[in-house]
Amino acid sequence: MKYIFVTGGVISSLGKGLTAAALGTLLENRGLKVTLQKFDPYLNVDPGTMSPYQHGEVYVLDDGAETDLDLGHYERFTSVKLSRFNNLTSGQVYQTVLDKERRGDYLGKTVQVIPHVTDEIQNRIFQVGEKSNVDVVITEIGGTTGDIEGLPFLEAIREFALKVGYNNAIFVHMTYVPFIKAAGELKTKPTQQAVAKLREIGITPHILVCRCERSLDNELRQKISLFCNVPYEAVIEEKDVDHSIYELPLMLQRERVDDLVCKLLQLPQGVPNMSHWQEIIRKLIAPQHRVRVGVVGKYIDLNDAYKSVYEAIIHGGIANDCGVEIVKLDAEEIETQGAEKLLKGLGGVLVPGGFGERGIEGKIKAAQYARETKLPFLGLCLGMQIATIEFARNVLHLDKAHSTEFDVVTPHPVIALLDDQKDVSKKGGTMRLGAQPCQLKMGSKAAHYYGAFLINERHRHRYEFNNDYRERFEAAGFVFSGTSPDGKLVELIELPEHPYYLACQFHPEFQSKPHASHPLFRSFIAAAHTFIHHRAL
Ligand code: GLN
Repeated sequence: MKYIFVTGGVISSLGKGLTAAALGTLLENRGLKVTLQKFDPYLNVDPGTMSPYQHGEVYVLDDGAETDLDLGHYERFTSVKLSRFNNLTSGQVYQTVLDKERRGDYLGKTVQVIPHVTDEIQNRIFQVGEKSNVDVVITEIGGTTGDIEGLPFLEAIREFALKVGYNNAIFVHMTYVPFIKAAGELKTKPTQQAVAKLREIGITPHILVCRCERSLDNELRQKISLFCNVPYEAVIEEKDVDHSIYELPLMLQRERVDDLVCKLLQLPQGVPNMSHWQEIIRKLIAPQHRVRVGVVGKYIDLNDAYKSVYEAIIHGGIANDCGVEIVKLDAEEIETQGAEKLLKGLGGVLVPGGFGERGIEGKIKAAQYARETKLPFLGLCLGMQIATIEFARNVLHLDKAHSTEFDVVTPHPVIALLDDQKDVSKKGGTMRLGAQPCQLKMGSKAAHYYGAFLINERHRHRYEFNNDYRERFEAAGFVFSGTSPDGKLVELIELPEHPYYLACQFHPEFQSKPHASHPLFRSFIAAAHTFIHHRAL
């Protein structure tokens, strides 16, 4: 088994996750089996309890793990299916170590960061490799070198590489080479210092990936090589992408980073087959069609909050050879300015998942506008609950219908807590989480789009459609097109009279890939394009 460790210096937000994922793409397309893993130095056990402002989206895996959004990149860029073992936080490490201490496993020893914490981290690297039975394990270390909390992870990977040997483990370090306008120059000093920081703890990077706005010339590459003690060919340029993050594997391939990795790790040489990836890029750069769709949320200024949703929309575009412009709409603005003003002219509107009351009425207005004007609508998780509340209030005339998440004394709790959620008091990891089967209704649009009757989709929510209202909804033409196999939980709803009005209790965005777009996003973008096209005729 071979190991690649990806670290980062100078600043955060360098795109380490994307770089690790793109490396995964290249190795996989050379026929190697890979898996990817993320270490996060913070003390939260997982990001499930963190605010989107702190952390961006929480990415959910099949097994119900609530993980860092980089795992979303890993799954989108490769064919790997990740599990809870692929995201390790300091919180988890300490929890394990302290549990062992209380059990007496350390037999009276003083429990210390080195070796007990670092051993636990190394165990996880071995464990992931063994469980996934792959050729290469890529491990990304979150944070920036020099952070105090990242030190145990760096110490752990230093020891790990020594144990397995440098033919089997390499360090890829990402840095930033800023362009200073006033001097008209790219500056290498931050990179030199970041690498020095790494060397201080005994890690010499084999490959340096330099994020930059402008190209590195030969002289600069030589300078970085000399002062950072990295061979010339291992100084890799990673310029900001022009169009899409999906260009990254091709950019890194042009820099021959995969050749170098294979050489260093004594893996079979060859050329990755990237033709399907090139086709994706072609469609992204020069699509045949174009459409604008709105996403109505409350974290609209925060790019990372709806990461997988935005990506899945783009994938839906790729499948339809359609460039999608995502119009980010603040739900509170719809509340004050009305839906028509903000949604008119769009090909479709999507209401993603969410928690908390802010912006809810704006989302309801958006759903109502879409239903009444036959604008394609896709609701995800909270989006399905919004569609339900809107229908209850405006079609069934159930005055003040609501979800008990937002109004505990509503006379019509059309969305409510399931019995097994009622006594839950702990916040972390207690929602309905992970992949669960869903049975689709024969003849429904959903079954048509999926081309299947039994699907598996990932969940992250507490509230559900309240079955006391099912008959009333059905009588008014609201179709429950997907339920749990026992029929008890509503998973998908649709309005057959509407060209495209679908909403699901699960999160389809977590299972969409650029080359295998999710059926709901594919059909949504197709409907959005048809909507605009017909209006134009
Ligand atoms: N807040 C809602 C619930 O808990 C929806 C959650 C979500 O959209 N992920 O049921």
